[in-house]
Amino acid sequence: MPIRAFSTVYKERDEEVRHILGGVQTPSVERVQELLAMSLETSLGLPELAEVLQLGFDQAASEQFETLRAFALANWRKPSGNRLRYVAPIYVSSYCVDTCSYCNFSALREATARKRLNVEELRFEIDAVMSSGARVIELVYATDPEFTTELLAEYVAATAEALGGEEGSGVLLCTEYLTREAYNSLKEAGLNGIIQWDETLDRAAYAHWHDSSPHKRAFDIRMDNHDRALAAGLEVATGALFGLADLRYDALMQIAKARHFLAEYGRGPFVFGAPRLKPIGGHELHLKTCASDRAFETALFAYKLAAPEAGRWLQTREAFEMNVRNMLDDDVFTYRCGDVTPGGYHQIDGSKSVLRSGQFGVNELSRETVETALARRSFAIDYAWVTGRDAACAGALACGDSQRTA
Ligand code: SF4
Repeated sequence: MPIRAFSTVYKERDEEVRHILGGVQTPSVERVQELLAMSLETSLGLPELAEVLQLGFDQAASEQFETLRAFALANWRKPSGNRLRYVAPIYVSSYCVDTCSYCNFSALREATARKRLNVEELRFEIDAVMSSGARVIELVYATDPEFTTELLAEYVAATAEALGGEEGSGVLLCTEYLTREAYNSLKEAGLNGIIQWDETLDRAAYAHWHDSSPHKRAFDIRMDNHDRALAAGLEVATGALFGLADLRYDALMQIAKARHFLAEYGRGPFVFGAPRLKPIGGHELHLKTCASDRAFETALFAYKLAAPEAGRWLQTREAFEMNVRNMLDDDVFTYRCGDVTPGGYHQIDGSKSVLRSGQFGVNELSRETVETALARRSFAIDYAWVTGRDAACAGALACGDSQRTA
């Protein structure tokens, strides 16, 4: 059946969001309380969520922001028994034809040490993450033309085989955009879901960052990648890279997109990614659109208010303290990602310098350190959480029991 992809409603949503943001005001404490009470009864609309997001942009709104944080913790952080769903990324290739200036894998970065894992090396990396408990593995690629659909399917199948059908295990894929036929084949090979950050859905900002990228410049085709994956029966993670454009716009467009998925396919994203631009190789990026901590945290709470059944992905771009401050029951979590470089769990070949070969700066931690710190806060990590846990969850990736706790 032909799909009604997000690009068919993009113009409408884009105009709606711009109109809302043109008139949004910082809400008072009383208005924030009213909005939060409303959220218990009904799904907040984009205008109300825009008011919430505005708290991230008004340093005088500290009381309102703390009201929001207290509400989120009271509703989605239990006194005990909170879980975090772990995903272990394995970087497979750092060869890229695209030229995103915010990424160390850009084809223009001649100093970046490149590496492409063969299947044997992939198995070696899988052994490393499995030996530390992980059973949900994300294979991460740049835009590497060597990886045809057939080769991707071989790597997915090798990962699924290593996981051995163990209960709760799963394979996720982060590549550049693919066709629906490719997703059909990859599903056959054992793929559960895809991860794609839209970077920004602001068309002009997207062009600014990506017009020189030969593959990634295709804004509309890339925008519909999640639709093609969903239509093929896969689950999806979506998100924006905060810092490329107005964060309020990007968060609202992601929420609009998640609601589009729900309407078209009966299921939304299993998680919202919330990466934000970070310095590369120690170089600060002085952009007007850089996301402050307040804006970033407000967006995390807005995602939860908008789609309580989805997690937010707390990952190694952020300091552990930042993640701990914001984590809610059933969020997705990563504390180690192989130094965001192929072979990173073993430092196979390439540069021994993470700065020279990693995609961006990360805060990697050991399992023991993290689990000890989390236990003190009544959180435990679930390393094998895919499928069948909740019969009411339509998708293959368990959405758990992300109900309000109060
Ligand atoms: S963000 Fe992705 S597409 Fe862009 S340069 Fe980096 S790896 Fe390539």
